[in-house]
Amino acid sequence: MFSKVLIANRGEIALRVLRACKELGIQTVAVHSTADAEAMHVKLADESVCIGPPSARDSYLNIPQILAACEITGADAVHPGYGFLSENARFAEVLEDHKIQFIGPSAEHIRTMGDKIAAKQTAKRLGIPVVPGSDGGVSTVADAKRISGDMSYPVIIKAASGGGGKGMQVVNSEEEIELAFTTARAEALSNFGDDTVYIEKYLSKPRHIEVQVMGDGKGHAIHLGERDCSLQRRHQKVWEEACSPALNEEQQSRIGNICADAMKGLGYAGAGTIEFLYEDGEFYFIEMNTRLQVEHPVTEMITRIDLVNEQLKVACGAGLDIRQEDVVFQGHAIECRINAENSENFRPSPGMITYYHPPGGLGVRVDSGVYQGYTIPPYYDSLIGKLIVHGRNRVECMMRLRRALDEFIVDGIDTTLPLFRKLVDNPDVANGAYDIHWLERYLGMK
Ligand code: ADP
Repeated sequence: MFSKVLIANRGEIALRVLRACKELGIQTVAVHSTADAEAMHVKLADESVCIGPPSARDSYLNIPQILAACEITGADAVHPGYGFLSENARFAEVLEDHKIQFIGPSAEHIRTMGDKIAAKQTAKRLGIPVVPGSDGGVSTVADAKRISGDMSYPVIIKAASGGGGKGMQVVNSEEEIELAFTTARAEALSNFGDDTVYIEKYLSKPRHIEVQVMGDGKGHAIHLGERDCSLQRRHQKVWEEACSPALNEEQQSRIGNICADAMKGLGYAGAGTIEFLYEDGEFYFIEMNTRLQVEHPVTEMITRIDLVNEQLKVACGAGLDIRQEDVVFQGHAIECRINAENSENFRPSPGMITYYHPPGGLGVRVDSGVYQGYTIPPYYDSLIGKLIVHGRNRVECMMRLRRALDEFIVDGIDTTLPLFRKLVDNPDVANGAYDIHWLERYLGMK
């Protein structure tokens, strides 16, 4: 096993990784910006190194500084968490050049899946069902018209290098295509420095269902079931659950096995997530994330498998000793993303937490780096913690969630807790009857 791991991240995920390292007896190094000197992940790590000023570009995204921190502390591996450098193939290569292990898949797999056209082609080749659409990039209005006409409207134009829900244009008829196509290319170029776009059939009422996979890089791979992340606002997930209330066991194991087989074919190493839109009983691949996801704890709760522990074991060469038949799903889990934001207008609300009381009890997990007296800096993502609740079934899980939300107190700043207190009492949410547009309709955005 590694002797010292540097955690190239901040907030709750830095703490999450640190916990797994400690349980394996691995020394930990925290890196932080000047704005994060008082952060919990810094306090709990064995060593810490300041890597720069508040701006992420100068600190958490600063590869030379992180490399220097590895060399100063003698870390033999780096866990990137999610976001920041977690899907940066160049970072994985630079670490490899310095004989430091990147805890994640190969740079080649990160690169392929980071290009949405290449990812879709690879998925198709590996037997994963994809959304019907153009075979690759589309470069002229005439081609866009022909392809969209053949597929029938509505269609969606997406940026090959896109991410974070940006640069997508929904087109309802041929009259709209020219303007939408030109706009999508210009936006792709300005947001991602690459004007390559592709076209897909637009699904009108899908659910977002994703499959957690884990591979050893040598041809053994398993799936750990799915998560339903359909409750979204601006293409950002708000509430996630496992298993999906929309699938039966047969559908669940069918899509899971397709993903596990694909990862065997690819020789994928570490944790990954294959994302689908699901409509009328069919799955359509949209993208693959080659890292740990924010919502990974719901999978951990129903499988009792520590995903970070498994990532560490795969990365150090100890392999993946879980067989598919060892993975047993038990009960139901729900995660609520607690953001430092007003629950009505979603305006960020950084500042000092004057009183903090997290919930507890059987089946309740809070992953968070905040504490009473901690000041949330204004520079980063507004996620301050995750409430994850497990029950023997979905009904018990919802009852427990309602109870845990009632206990949760965060004073001094606005949080999204009041939104969850309303959602947990909503009949559609209680019935699991929602698609990816439900939350925005509920919030009056559509
Ligand atoms: P990003 O990487 O920017 O998040 P994705 O391809 O993962 O982009 O898509 C993000 C979200 O956009 C999806 O969860 C879904 O809500 C919507 N979306 C993407 N493709 C389609 C499609 N073909 N039909 C309908 N909605 C789509």
